[in-house]
Amino acid sequence: MSDWDNAVPPQRDYATIQLMRVPNSARLLGIAINTLLQGRTTHWDGRRTGPCPGTTCPMCRDGHIGRWHAYVPLFNQSSGKIFVVQLTALAAGALQEEAQRYKTLRGLLLQISRVKPRDNARILIEARALPVLPHDLPDPIDIPRFMASVWNSKPGFPDHNREPPPEPPK
Ligand SMILES: [Zn+2]
Repeated sequence: MSDWDNAVPPQRDYATIQLMRVPNSARLLGIAINTLLQGRTTHWDGRRTGPCPGTTCPMCRDGHIGRWHAYVPLFNQSSGKIFVVQLTALAAGALQEEAQRYKTLRGLLLQISRVKPRDNARILIEARALPVLPHDLPDPIDIPRFMASVWNSKPGFPDHNREPPPEPPK
């Protein structure tokens, strides 16, 4: 018996896709892959972020307010890479408006940056529709499954298709 193998194991689901925050002083450029925006409420437990399970959530019960984030998969045509960008509810709301204007999110070329080079500065999104979808635009990403692999939790979240919450009053 040998520990060596001739068969290469299949790559773990979405193992090469990176989850990213919007950087402080760089722009992200990519074509939206999914037709719909997807997000959910998460908690930061002081160590890491995880999904809020809803009514049974111990953190909600202890008074910790969750934060809603959208997770938007983008395809960068020049690198050929897919990455998933995490957006605040405010930024996701603006993107949702663009998606409604163009009837879909898929195929919009997005340029995402921050208004100031600072952590948590407001996110700015410029969107424009491509006249023709690139032939190599990947199939939509199963965001609940991808995020489950990031969070190491089970997929099948009931609320993964809901719309972003309205902007807080100014
Ligand atoms: Zn919770």
